[in-house]
Amino acid sequence: MGETVKKIVRTIKVDLDKCNGCRACEIACAAFHAKPRYSSFNPARSRIRMVIDERNDEWVAIRSTDYTKSGCEGRRVYTINGKEYSECSFCGSICPTRDLFKEPDSGLPLICDMCEDEKEPLCVQICSRGALTYEEKEVEVEAEVVKPAEMEIGLQSLVEKYGLQKLADTFARMSPKG
Ligand code: SF4
Ligand code: SF4
Repeated sequence: MGETVKKIVRTIKVDLDKCNGCRACEIACAAFHAKPRYSSFNPARSRIRMVIDERNDEWVAIRSTDYTKSGCEGRRVYTINGKEYSECSFCGSICPTRDLFKEPDSGLPLICDMCEDEKEPLCVQICSRGALTYEEKEVEVEAEVVKPAEMEIGLQSLVEKYGLQKLADTFARMSPKG
């Protein structure tokens, strides 16, 4: 085992029985991350989304976690309290098999940042049903599994979308002259 580092893991638990699908969490997240802050309320820009399958009476609030350039093979079905949920219903990955968590204009990934330095994330604060619970715990992880920063993930997706050369040309044009 390599070198380990201590890390605070911040997470949000979802209680499926308490959530009524009101989507207030989506609105709060989108508004908090709008620029300027609270200037728009477009749920398509939220980092938490309701996954809704009306035919199967399936709805779950999920938070975006990471960016991945390929979809997985996960096709399991979970039965909870007699109700069936697909594996995708619980997955926060931003992947090519669905449109969730992609900025509508640029297609850039929208990754949950736990509302930066807010004491309690906005989605948790707004949920009047108590369906979302914020938790913090300290864990020890191998140094190499610490994930790349959000900027790196955003750049990676831009490279995939436009190609390295186009990006390099754009950066060159943007660089201050002289
Ligand atoms: S605000 Fe709470 S009850 Fe409403 S959709 Fe979000 S998690 Fe569910
Ligand atoms: S923690 Fe903040 S950024 Fe993450 S989903 Fe909730 S409101 Fe959005």
